[in-house]
Amino acid sequence: MKLTVLGCSGSVPGPDSPSSGYLLEADGFRLVLDLGHGTFGALQRYVDPADVDAIVISHLHADHCIDLTAYVVSLRYGGSGHRLKMADQQIPLIGPEGTLHRLSTAYDPLVRDLGLGELFSFATPTPGELGPFRVDFAPMNHPTPTNAIRLTHGGTSLVYSADTGESPELVELARGADVLLCEASFGPDDEYVPNLHLTGKQAGEHAAKAGVGRMIVTHVPPWCSPEVQVNDVMETFDGPVELATPGAVFDLGPGVVTQSGKPR
Ligand SMILES: [Zn+2]
Ligand SMILES: [Zn+2]
Repeated sequence: MKLTVLGCSGSVPGPDSPSSGYLLEADGFRLVLDLGHGTFGALQRYVDPADVDAIVISHLHADHCIDLTAYVVSLRYGGSGHRLKMADQQIPLIGPEGTLHRLSTAYDPLVRDLGLGELFSFATPTPGELGPFRVDFAPMNHPTPTNAIRLTHGGTSLVYSADTGESPELVELARGADVLLCEASFGPDDEYVPNLHLTGKQAGEHAAKAGVGRMIVTHVPPWCSPEVQVNDVMETFDGPVELATPGAVFDLGPGVVTQSGKPR
């Protein structure tokens, strides 16, 4: 399983990174996980958007889904989407209840019949098989319905926290996972708001309780220091900790994570 970071800036895009978005690949299957501001641009470095096999959206905050609007334009007018149309194929789009409404209003609030069903087949999260992946979900502690996601392939499992405040469900979902890709959005000097995001220390505590092998720290906002967040995580989690950076590629095998920081 290979993880490519399309963007990892928390809550808003930053000067050096789009908002949240990840590309997961295994056995030639391409799964896009979240599509925040600017991630659609980065996605095109790695794959023709029409060739993506599935999209999973953790929740409907703009920093995780708004580039679906760019996806619509690209599939409709960009050429390669024509292929899908000719084959009468849609890209599976798994997201919370209301994803279609969220996308259609964000795309064009005045037009209701947008034919988005011709481009995407909309579904809500259900555990099961998705291409070569086993996929499991758990509801997180965030102001809008949000799912963390566990992807398993060939004996390796990756859990993505999405956005969450403290959450026993995250610990449960991540139990024994090889890698926890976890948000750490509140810096030590930020005003702490419960049920919204994790501090670095809380992120590390969740990883320690779940007994994960490694952590990749993500969703650090531009007003917050990534180094400080990683150090805070390391105060409460003993295992290896890495920082998500835009363009980073992680090869995830059982017990192995290798990173190459340059976009292909
Ligand atoms: Zn977010
Ligand atoms: Zn959010």
